[in-house]
Amino acid sequence: MTLQNMESVEVFTTEGKGRGLKAAKELLAGEVVFAEPSFAAVVFDSLSQQVCHSCFRQQQKLHRCGQCRFAQYCDRTCQRACWEEHKQECAAIRTYGKAPNENVRLAARILWRMQKDGGVASDAQLTTLEELEDHVADMPEEDLKELKIDVHNFLDYWPRGGRQYPVDSISHIIGVINCNGFTLSDQRGLQAVGVGIFPNLCLVNHDCWPNCTVILNHGNQTAVNTFCHSQRRIELRALEKIPEGQELTVGYVDFLNVSTDRQKLLKHQYFFDCACDHCTHRTKDDLMTAAKEVDGQKPSEEVVKEVTEYSLKTLEQIEKSRTEGNYHEVVKLSRECLEKQEPVLGDTHLHHLRVLSVLSEVLSYLQYFEEAAGYARRMVEGYMKLYHPNNAQLGMATMRAGVTHWHAGLIEVGHSMICKAYAILLVTHGPSHAITKDLEAMRMQTEMELRMFRQNEYVYHTMREAALKNQPMSMMAEPVVEGIKSLFRKK
Ligand SMILES: [Zn+2]
Ligand SMILES: [Zn+2]
Ligand SMILES: [Zn+2]
Repeated sequence: MTLQNMESVEVFTTEGKGRGLKAAKELLAGEVVFAEPSFAAVVFDSLSQQVCHSCFRQQQKLHRCGQCRFAQYCDRTCQRACWEEHKQECAAIRTYGKAPNENVRLAARILWRMQKDGGVASDAQLTTLEELEDHVADMPEEDLKELKIDVHNFLDYWPRGGRQYPVDSISHIIGVINCNGFTLSDQRGLQAVGVGIFPNLCLVNHDCWPNCTVILNHGNQTAVNTFCHSQRRIELRALEKIPEGQELTVGYVDFLNVSTDRQKLLKHQYFFDCACDHCTHRTKDDLMTAAKEVDGQKPSEEVVKEVTEYSLKTLEQIEKSRTEGNYHEVVKLSRECLEKQEPVLGDTHLHHLRVLSVLSEVLSYLQYFEEAAGYARRMVEGYMKLYHPNNAQLGMATMRAGVTHWHAGLIEVGHSMICKAYAILLVTHGPSHAITKDLEAMRMQTEMELRMFRQNEYVYHTMREAALKNQPMSMMAEPVVEGIKSLFRKK
């Protein structure tokens, strides 16, 4: 990476937030502020046999490293691209007798990289690993215990013959991983598959209403890179026009929590008190907790409280049934819950939106597309009142709703939603991202079908039915995977 990649940003010291990045020039919506390859990254323990350790794509058939029998690759190209990064690890795993956990593996990869390239791997890296926050001093007892276990295991795993590090340095690196480890997703951006360190990204502070978003771009598979880090590249993208000199921010947690809950989450996970504009003014908290209003009449506070508590309890049961794969129970519970919510909670109430989201997803999976489409549409309408117009979660939800409408044969609404989602993803993911490309293909397909529909509705429906019979739709993923809503990794 050359220095030019960082020319749009400047490091500065913010009031009360430590270091931050600001725009060195005016930026436009969708502009890539900077791109950064991972300093080091590893696949999660739980997916180590399902995801390529080089390009982080999920694959049906992977080839195992013949020496350590732990690392898995798509093919020789991926293996070769990653050898520089894996060779010391490979030897260490063999000596240790097994692969240690992801924290320890990542800490070791970071140190090997530092030995090779120094703490600053390129001119474009604006901070050293040593300078990054580890928050070890803020950690609660419980987490500290885990950290000590990781350090202990690291010392066992780290080769005796190599350069040795004091316990403090290792604690620091593992602390940095815990609070600055960035969640890496698979090629579609739908499932968290690993964790990596991106030093420049760590300099971008949080805001609940951020002006930037960060996305992992796996790049173009046909472009073979000489070293695999470049395939695991994040892009910081501007969500709106940003004037020169303004601080660049990203959302570390999902905006769809009331301000006090976001503040709690941020304090717990990132050890700071959010004093952003939206938290200070509690912006949109009223919408997220709104009661239903009919002709100026609202239900009593007592009733609202009762339904809110009932919803929370039911949502727990719904979540449980969903993780167990008991989808018919999810549908039953969600329908009951909606019935209770409808006369009492507003369209933008978070518990109401949560039920709409789960129910539409599960119904789509069960192929009840028509009913799913109705709920998905209400979910998107609620999201539109809450989220930034270029929020990635909003884009993904709109895409899901659009596809559901399309599958339900509601081609007009489906196409229009797919177009809206495409417009958002062009900003948040960019035109070369795999999911944007999928969406573009769907946009063209639905446009063609819409034209057909407008010419002759009867012919359109006949064709659609025939197509459905020949090829059962399998676009909908099983709804067990929770979307990635937290920027940095949750422990
Ligand atoms: Zn691969
Ligand atoms: Zn190996
Ligand atoms: Zn905030």
